[in-house]
Amino acid sequence: MVREEILRWLLETDSARLQELWRRADEVRRHHVGDAVHLRGLVEFSNRCVRQCGYCGMRAGNSKLPRYRMTSDEILASARLAHDLGYGTLVLQSGEDPSMDPEWLAAVVRKITTTMPLAVTLSVGEWPPEALQLWREGGADRYLLRFETADEDLLRRIHPPLPGRPWSRFEILRSLGDLGYEVGSGILIGVPGQTFGELARCIELLRELELDMIGSGPFIPHPETPLGRSPVHFSSLEGGYGAGGLSARDQVPPDDIMTYKVLALARIVRPYANIPATTALATLDRASGYEKGLQRGANVIMPNVTPVRYRSLYHVYPGKVSSAPSDDTYYADIKARIEALGRTVGVGPGSSARWSGAAASCP
Ligand code: SAH
Repeated sequence: MVREEILRWLLETDSARLQELWRRADEVRRHHVGDAVHLRGLVEFSNRCVRQCGYCGMRAGNSKLPRYRMTSDEILASARLAHDLGYGTLVLQSGEDPSMDPEWLAAVVRKITTTMPLAVTLSVGEWPPEALQLWREGGADRYLLRFETADEDLLRRIHPPLPGRPWSRFEILRSLGDLGYEVGSGILIGVPGQTFGELARCIELLRELELDMIGSGPFIPHPETPLGRSPVHFSSLEGGYGAGGLSARDQVPPDDIMTYKVLALARIVRPYANIPATTALATLDRASGYEKGLQRGANVIMPNVTPVRYRSLYHVYPGKVSSAPSDDTYYADIKARIEALGRTVGVGPGSSARWSGAAASCP
């Protein structure tokens, strides 16, 4: 799929024609990764962060947010819960916290992978190659680092670089595969300043980076952030979204339809990738975000297994669906929703086809 076609789909507003995109993504999904929906237990183990991302409620500048880091025993207990629920993967996610000792995290990963048959995914921000290698040697299988936007100038504005850090997100992403990780990345859809042309470029980048995992979600404004404080007008930078004036230069709206389009296009450009219907999508479309996501390209859901007392503190955006659910119903509900679609709950680690040998390369 070339950029013009991607752009046409991103700009498409006719719901009948969009059915064609959903159908095509669903077919590509079924053909390449089948009907299994893999569940990844998500542990948000720390909200400490030194970054000043303009979009994220955990930014260092948000002094209203109490900070926490779970102990290794607490993380182990969450891993045990994920394992007992039948999940094959644990995702350890946190803010970016250089005061965390990489050796400590390596020991946590080693403890998990040597005591439970769980694949481990890390999502802990930008770290030097030595730390990434240490964790890989400790048994981490996968690494998630969203590029958020393909426009490096925009990225610098919304995700300011730290002084004295020679490595960039894109460099890190390109190095992870060499270290032996399955590599995941994705897009913050509709972040202020993102245009349709840039979003089309992001979709191409998903393909160029040869990603094993693609997690993208809608930008949800957080009131304690620069991008969430003042009313941001998503209608457009010029012309008007839906008013006949759409062009590649218009601001992308961070809505559910745009998120489904990105999911579907991601599936089409990376047919074998593991693609979650993300929590941010389910937050925006509570009634059917998971279902529609799974029917428009996704094959993964990441249920939250963080202890409930910490969930509301992992405050990247407001209103997160998993902030304080009643646990019994929450986990059972996700499985029931998968089965109601005629899909099955995946068994085992659900590795990327590239690593499990099912596919050497993707178109
Ligand atoms: N520190 C890690 C993990 C960050 S949280 C890292 O930087 O990789 C994971 C993702 O949450 C981010 O990559 C970003 O895409 C998303 N996120 C942050 N703020 C958000 C917001 N306001 N709305 C929606 N998603 C957001």
